[in-house]
Amino acid sequence: MLEESRAYFRHAANVLGLSDRVRDILLCPLRIVKVGLVTESDEGKLIKHTGYRVQHSRVRGPMKGGLRYHPSVDEDEATALANLMTWKTAVVGVPYGGAKGGINCDPSDLSERELNEITRTFVGQIKEVIGPTIDIPAPDVNTNAKIMGWIMDEYSKYQGFSPGVVTGKPLHLFGSEGREEATGRGVTIVLEEMLRRQNKSISEVTVALQGFGNVGSHAARTMAEVGAKIVAVGDHAGGVCNKEGLDVDQLAAWTAQRGSVAGFPGGDAFNSDDVLTWDADVLVPAALGDVLTKDNAEDVRASIIIEAANSPTMPEADETFRRRGILVVPDILANAGGVTVSYFEWAQNIQQFQWELGRIRHELSSHMRKACESVAAVAKQRDVDLRTAAFILAIQRVGEAALSRRPYAEARDLPR
Ligand code: NAD
Repeated sequence: MLEESRAYFRHAANVLGLSDRVRDILLCPLRIVKVGLVTESDEGKLIKHTGYRVQHSRVRGPMKGGLRYHPSVDEDEATALANLMTWKTAVVGVPYGGAKGGINCDPSDLSERELNEITRTFVGQIKEVIGPTIDIPAPDVNTNAKIMGWIMDEYSKYQGFSPGVVTGKPLHLFGSEGREEATGRGVTIVLEEMLRRQNKSISEVTVALQGFGNVGSHAARTMAEVGAKIVAVGDHAGGVCNKEGLDVDQLAAWTAQRGSVAGFPGGDAFNSDDVLTWDADVLVPAALGDVLTKDNAEDVRASIIIEAANSPTMPEADETFRRRGILVVPDILANAGGVTVSYFEWAQNIQQFQWELGRIRHELSSHMRKACESVAAVAKQRDVDLRTAAFILAIQRVGEAALSRRPYAEARDLPR
């Protein structure tokens, strides 16, 4: 994943004609933290995990990015995703740098007490390098509002009341209206914008989604609300399809109870890997990274791919999609709704004031639409695809901020 995220950066850097020195400045992470977490299992045995926090850049503000609890978490993955956060926050214009991290574990093997203890131990080990003006974690794969609440509580024990140390908290614990749905809603806004540019309406399209967790389920719900037909959904345990459109609310209720879409009676079962090549107008990967590869790219049937997941497309697949005329909306634009409403949550925490849902949705929509317009304008001006345009926009914004903050010798080469 690290090599792929760098390949996309390199492509944009080539268009901008950046020197090697500037590339090194922009790509090098500020800090990589790796901690050992020793806790006790419910049976009283010692259990060991490794936690990571990679802080890529603080040029445009405090660092921001999710925490992932998954067996795939390692230094390379966290570094790649931290990097993407720097570009994502810049594309959507929120005043943050980029970070990412998590714990290498399988939460399905852990009880709630064990998860709580591991989380609190992690906070104890990284408390010096996070904070409301330093680095603000948020939910990602297998982490949620409850875990963010534990993080706020543990950090506040050391540093005093600090709701702004983490976003994605429960609503009753200084969370924000609209944060849970934000990434999925943002994905829908981006799809609407892209279709508008093709003189199409979202009510005309069919959609297949991989992943029905936080991002996938809210993307499906908000798309269905404005008339899109959700024809297939696949997750870690199975897939379900319905040509007439799945009832997304019922599917969400089923998944909340059983942990998977598998077996949902409102559609037919299929092998969940097939969702990526489903016969639908729009494909929304909303699960893990590196799922669109050179092996399946030729078989993708959608004409639009909206990258709700982080880093779902390998560069060879991206090349194939470009050649085949498939429009790919890159992750650093498509899933930026989450960090945007995280910014609103953080702003509310600092102001000690609560915004209403209507205001959150309105501001989210205006941030996402503005970002779509800016990326599309760069794509047109430079005659490049949307991913390259998004990277160019982000590199320019980070470069300008770096130049204004610290005009070191190399900065004169930074893009303007
Ligand atoms: P989640 O844990 O809530 O859901 C993950 C989903 O992926 C589940 O439906 C799970 O069944 C599915 N999944 C896992 N392994 C799979 C497999 N092998 N095949 C098919 N499906 C599989 O996570 P989430 O928060 O919805 O995050 C999903 C993606 O969106 C991640 O790439 C994450 O980095 C990205 N993202 C999340 C946010 C956010 O606000 N949560 C913001 C930006 C980007």
